[in-house]
Amino acid sequence: MKYDVVVVGSGPAGSVTARFAAENGAKVLMIERRQEIGTPVLCGEGVSRKIDDWDMLEGDRWIAGRMDGARIYSPDQTCVTLSADQAGNETGYVVYRDIFDRELARRAVKAGVTIMMNAQATGLLKEKGKIKGITVNHFDEELEVKADIVVGADGVESKIGYWGGIDTTLKPKDLETCAQYTLTGIDCKDAYCDFYLGRKIAPGGYIWVFPKGKDSANVGIGILASLSEAGMARKLLDDFIKKDLRFKNAEPVRFLAGAVPVAMPIETVRDNLILVGDAARHVDPITGGGLTHCLEAGKIAGEVIGKAVKTKNFSQDFLMEYETRWKETVGRKIKRNYMVKEILLGMEDKTFNMLADSLKEYNFEELSTLGLIKALVTKHPTLLMKLKPLLKVSKEERKDK
Ligand SMILES: Cc1cc2nc3c(=O)[nH]c(=O)nc-3n(C[C@H](O)[C@H](O)[C@H](O)COP(=O)(O)OP(=O)(O)OC[C@H]3O[C@@H](n4cnc5c(N)ncnc54)[C@H](O)[C@@H]3O)c2cc1C
Repeated sequence: MKYDVVVVGSGPAGSVTARFAAENGAKVLMIERRQEIGTPVLCGEGVSRKIDDWDMLEGDRWIAGRMDGARIYSPDQTCVTLSADQAGNETGYVVYRDIFDRELARRAVKAGVTIMMNAQATGLLKEKGKIKGITVNHFDEELEVKADIVVGADGVESKIGYWGGIDTTLKPKDLETCAQYTLTGIDCKDAYCDFYLGRKIAPGGYIWVFPKGKDSANVGIGILASLSEAGMARKLLDDFIKKDLRFKNAEPVRFLAGAVPVAMPIETVRDNLILVGDAARHVDPITGGGLTHCLEAGKIAGEVIGKAVKTKNFSQDFLMEYETRWKETVGRKIKRNYMVKEILLGMEDKTFNMLADSLKEYNFEELSTLGLIKALVTKHPTLLMKLKPLLKVSKEERKDK
C-alpha cells in the first residue's frame, strides 16, 4: 500500500487534517484502531460557536443544544454570569460528539480520503533512518503502509511522536484526569454551561454541567494529576452530584474517564512527520477544550501537507510552515492560558471568592478567557503586575487578527 499521507487516528484532528490534505491534492489514508469512529465518546461535548465560520460541519444533526451563556461559580457559590446578551453571540454548543466526529470523517471521505477501521499503527517504517510509513495491525494481520508523510493524530496517549523522536512526555502537573456522567432525569432550567471552581471541589481544575437537551446534562470533573490520587476524580464528582438538588432524581446513562493534556506548546514536526490535536498537545490549558484547536491546526496541517506533496519536499524545514502557523495562532492562546493556569494554581479559595464577588455585576464585553483577564485587571489593578505578560501575549494576538 502506498499513499502520500497516512493519518493515524480518526478523531477531529485526524479527519480535518486528512480532509484538507486531500482537498489540496494528496492521496490520503486515515487509519483508526477502534471499530467505530466517534465512540466511545470521551468528551464534555462543549464547543465554541466560532466553528460556524469555518465550514467544518454541515447540517445540525451534531448539535445537542445551543447555549445562551456560561456561569462560573466560586467555592462560596458566588456566580459570575457571562451571557450572550452581555457579550454578544460568543457562546457555545453542546454537541453529540459521536455524530460530530463522524460528520468530520464524512467530509474527509467526500474530499477523497480512504479510511481503514480496526487498524492499529504498531510502529514507524524506516529506511536508512528516514520515515517511510507505518506498520499496521489490521484485524490481526500485519501490514506495511508506505507514505511520504505520517500524521500522528493519535490523541493524548500518542505513540507516533515518541516513535518519531519528539519529546511528548507529560508531567503530572500538565495532565488533567477527568470523569464524567451523562445524567438524565434532571430539569435543565436554562441553556447555560456551568463551571464550579475551588481547590477542594476540583483541585487544579473544575466541575462542569453542560445541558444536553431539556432533561439531561454532562456532569464532569477534571483535576490535575499532580494534585490527585487514584479514584479521586470520580469521588469528588460523586460528592458534588449527591449534594446538588438538581440531580436528586437523576440517573446516569453514560460514564467515562479520560485524560487531557494541559501543557505548553511542543515541537510537532520532523522529516516526514507531523503531529496534530491532543497528540500535539493542542489543548487549552485552562478549559481543557481541544476541539476548536484540532480544527484550526488540522486545517493548517492539511494545507501544508498539500504543498509538500506538490513540491515533493517532506523535510522538517518545509513542514515547519505548519508549526510556525499554528504556534502563531493556536499556540499563542495555549501559551497565554498556560500562564493563567499557573497563576490560578497559586490562588486560595478565598481569593477565588473575592475575585468572583468583585466580578458578579461586571458587564463583560467578551465571553472568553481574555474577557475575564481584562475584567480582573479593571477591578483589581494590583493584579496587573502578575497578569501583564498575559496581556502582552493577548495584544499580539489582537495585532495578528
Ligand atoms: C473527559 C473529557 C472531556 C472533554 N471535554 C471537552 C469539551 O467539552 N470540549 C472540548 O473542546 N474538548 C474536550 N475534551 C478534549 C477533547 O476531547 C480532545 O481535545 C479531542 O478529542 C482531541 O481530538 P484528537 O483528534 O486529537 O484526538 P482523539 O479524539 O482522542 O482521537 C484520537 C484517535 O486516534 C485513535 N488512535 C490512537 N492510537 C492509535 C493507533 N496506534 N492506531 C490507530 N488509531 C489510533 C484513537 O482510537 C482515537 O480515535 C475533553 C476530553 C476529555 C477526556
